[in-house]
Amino acid sequence: MQLITKTTYLQFASCPKNAWLQLNKPELSDRFELSDFDKSLVAKGNLVESWARKLFPEGVLIKEYGEQAHSITKQYLKEKNKIIFQSTFINDRFLARNDVLEYDHNNDCWNLYEIKGTNTLDENEDSVDHIEDAAFQVAILNDAGVKLGQIYLIHLNKEYVRGDKIEVNNLFIKENISEQVNNRLESTKSRMEQASELLFHEDENALECQCVYLGRSNHCSTFSYSHPYVPEYSVHDLSRIGAGKKKLAELIDSKIYEIAEIPDEIKLTDIQQNQKDVHVTQTPIIDLHSIKNELESLTYPLYFLDYETYPPAIPLFKGFKPYQQIPFQFSLHVLHSPDAEVEHFEYLHTENSDSSKSVISKLREFVGSQGSVIVWSKRFEKSINAQLAERHPEDATFLGDINERIYDLMEIFQKQLYVHPGFKGKVSIKKVLPVLAPALSYKDLEIQEGGAAMEAWYEMVFGDKPIEEKQAVAKNLLTYCCLDTYAMYVIWKELINIIPN
Ligand code: SF4
Repeated sequence: MQLITKTTYLQFASCPKNAWLQLNKPELSDRFELSDFDKSLVAKGNLVESWARKLFPEGVLIKEYGEQAHSITKQYLKEKNKIIFQSTFINDRFLARNDVLEYDHNNDCWNLYEIKGTNTLDENEDSVDHIEDAAFQVAILNDAGVKLGQIYLIHLNKEYVRGDKIEVNNLFIKENISEQVNNRLESTKSRMEQASELLFHEDENALECQCVYLGRSNHCSTFSYSHPYVPEYSVHDLSRIGAGKKKLAELIDSKIYEIAEIPDEIKLTDIQQNQKDVHVTQTPIIDLHSIKNELESLTYPLYFLDYETYPPAIPLFKGFKPYQQIPFQFSLHVLHSPDAEVEHFEYLHTENSDSSKSVISKLREFVGSQGSVIVWSKRFEKSINAQLAERHPEDATFLGDINERIYDLMEIFQKQLYVHPGFKGKVSIKKVLPVLAPALSYKDLEIQEGGAAMEAWYEMVFGDKPIEEKQAVAKNLLTYCCLDTYAMYVIWKELINIIPN
């Protein structure tokens, strides 16, 4: 019989239908293929685990898999003198591998440790998964007759700031989660029973896809397979429709999926109503007067700025916390006056070293003391500047001044001053650019989005690639980031061209 691993079980706990499809409809597998970014998350998880093992210098790793690993585990359990990494337990339906199992001589029992690459155990969805994860393992260890002591979660310490070297004892926090796991255990055991019944059930309809009642951001990639009658752009795409579940339920129960078919009696928010109106009329809503006021608040020179960053789980350089962003690149388009030619400046850090000071000195070179700094989604760029200032207080005034001068071009679209049917309810630059400047596109670029850019940079600096390949990656990164700021300039120019004098 096929065994249910922890990964499959956790998929089932999160969505039974999705887990069933992944197991039983392998022909859909291309839809489930991991992106480079997803793969990098797995790699980050493995890296965190290898660092956390350093907390147990005596630990012994079981490198084998399956039955072989199970029999080595049984042998080690008998010996009662080891700290085991990747101990493996198999029963008639389930297979679990444990991150760390440590024998407690004083209490003649085993302590279980689960290692996670997260920053904290907050009361959020993630933490629920960690408890479920540990409870699954405990259920199988109980079944194997292992006497368990305490159960711990080891996770990254978000307050840890790296010194010259990583201090592994400070990098991680160990939390005793025995009580939460024991409180969860009975419900986990009954969910495991359900999983073993339903995951191998031949009738796919035994499980329903519930996401038809949830907004688009909740859907997995199989949504259209389960609901082929729902159009690609549907009521699920209405802005914040997931927040007001009653309204979406009302529409779905009335079998209304097409935005244009939403009856007038259904009360939409102003933003949702705009989204519906432009979709029905296929005519944009443009508040020229307010756009004019916004753009007239800008002062020359105009600096269009964008950072690319990398957030390593284990800090790579002194002064960084876990997952703190390393700004490895920026692009800057500068327009000195309305009639001037736009100029381009850029910086890409290609060394295995902290980029912060180089980024700041390049910014100092290119950004003057006057003029608006235009970004897309200001929270991100402002936070990068604030973090640079924290690491380099001598530059805090300069970076603080840039933050004071930041103008978020996305707000024109967020404030509904320009709503276009082609935006499909979104305001990201990737949605706005093709509508306002169809000639410009990310589609032909080697690197097309931020997640791919960060992975490409990491591989370029730390990967074992020939120099020519690294140079090609550098070129691709520069091209991608350049388009981000050029796109902002072009969108700004399109807006300037439509406002009255
Ligand atoms: S769309 Fe939602 S309910 Fe349906 S399979 Fe995916 S995650 Fe599960």
